Amino acid sequence: MSLDSLAPADDGLVGSFPVMGEDDVRAVVATARTASTWWRELGFDGRAARLAAWRKHMWRRVDEVAELIHRENGKPLDDAVLEVVLTVEHLHWAAGNAGKVLRSHKVNPGPLFSNYAARVDYDPLGVVGVIGPWNYPLYAPNSAVSFALAAGNTVVLKPSEFTPAVSRWYVDAFAAANPDAPAGVLSLVTGFGETGAALCNAGVDKIGFTGSTRTGKRVMAQCAETLTPVVLECGGKDPVIVAADAEVKAAARAVAWGAFTNSGQTCVGVERVYVVKDVADAFEAALLRELEGVRPGTGKGATYGPMTMPAQVDVVRRHVADAVERGATFLKGGPDSIGERLIEPIVITDLPEDAVAVREETFGPTVTLRRVDDLDEAVTLVNDHDYALSASVFSRAHGDEIADRVRAGQVTINSVIAFAGMGAVPMGGVGASGFGRVHGADGLREFARPRGVVRQKFALPGFELITLRRAGHVMPLMKKVLGVRHGL
Ligand code: NDP
Repeated sequence: MSLDSLAPADDGLVGSFPVMGEDDVRAVVATARTASTWWRELGFDGRAARLAAWRKHMWRRVDEVAELIHRENGKPLDDAVLEVVLTVEHLHWAAGNAGKVLRSHKVNPGPLFSNYAARVDYDPLGVVGVIGPWNYPLYAPNSAVSFALAAGNTVVLKPSEFTPAVSRWYVDAFAAANPDAPAGVLSLVTGFGETGAALCNAGVDKIGFTGSTRTGKRVMAQCAETLTPVVLECGGKDPVIVAADAEVKAAARAVAWGAFTNSGQTCVGVERVYVVKDVADAFEAALLRELEGVRPGTGKGATYGPMTMPAQVDVVRRHVADAVERGATFLKGGPDSIGERLIEPIVITDLPEDAVAVREETFGPTVTLRRVDDLDEAVTLVNDHDYALSASVFSRAHGDEIADRVRAGQVTINSVIAFAGMGAVPMGGVGASGFGRVHGADGLREFARPRGVVRQKFALPGFELITLRRAGHVMPLMKKVLGVRHGL
């Protein structure tokens, strides 16, 4: 059985891929397990050299892979190039910093064991399974893949059924750049959801999942059977707060990009905006100006592309229909903006907070706006949500204070989504948006197992604490010493 990947622009065939079953997936994981000894023994420097070769190989072919992303996902070519840029940047950071973050380091054994030495090692987990989405088919899986590889694991990648060709290219690029590497350092398994489920049950040491919250829960349930740990990078409903002292035009420009880039199919895309009433008229006018001439399409000059996954159009239609029923005002667009695959920008106001378009991830080119009396109301509404992936705050003087009050995995002040391009900044969710982190030092540690190693340097005859033959004076002495230490 095979699956066909079709281009969102014209339904043309991008490629056919095998639908792999449980036995196929287990065989791939077994090869990855064998390769893991070689990869681990390369050490940080050896792995960094291989990852650098891969990065350079990809970057030399940036136009080729960007064209493939454009064709298979539907996003404009320039946005596809940006995706490649972000991918190689993260790979660069992960490879360059794994040694610093994960090298063994000494720790203080504490006063009870001053005759000991202690250190913490960060062992690779072994084989990591990565399950990826279609919206950023290169960037999103890479966020787990590159950090897991840099930490010394081999990786088996299961891409979305909608974008297997990009992942095939990505995995082949690793092999082409590293002809000395044995099979199995980075492998691909293709298929539908069942193939992802098979990967969860194939004896991997961790699953790095990026996708919807609904599927994330299923992945976690499957992994519970074998106590396989998971990182879940799930959906979001990211809010923006525009304070009374915000630079309104800049806020509108950022919101326009954050809400509509990639047809709104961005996990950390802007979906809800809360504007303090003093600047609401100015903000709405500025946002409408920003959206003049913004249009979806498949050719040159389109601001964003068609919806990648046909079923997502129905989600957008349902959210907009609910907004109509709730008596919402459409500042721009409306139900008629939704075509078969292309959706014109839609800006919705006057929606109650329990409307579907406010509660659920829309994942389309729509945004809701709500006027609030003050920042307290904005923060309350922002935080009253199941999703808490990321958030943005626009304020000239109070950005940090507001950011501190927002429940989110990451907050951007006076911009949107910028953290996603920063190798050093961890990224992940809170609540229904998942848990665990990719990127940054925390993203490396996510794919390593801390192992404490303590060594007795010399014995303390007569003063041994952990012995059945403890001397009678040891505990009174200990009580005296600890009494001083703890101030009793
Ligand atoms: P899905 O949840 O539909 O699918 C994600 C991946 O899981 C796909 O590869 C899918 O395979 C696979 N899968 C499906 N069923 C199972 C199963 N039972 N066991 C294991 N794997 C399974 O998400 P989408 O692909 O639609 O991606 C969009 C979602 O991803 C959005 O909610 C978005 O917010 C989120 N996302 C989150 C990011 C973050 O960093 N937090 C980043 C990017 C996206 P198949 O496609 O073959 O069904």
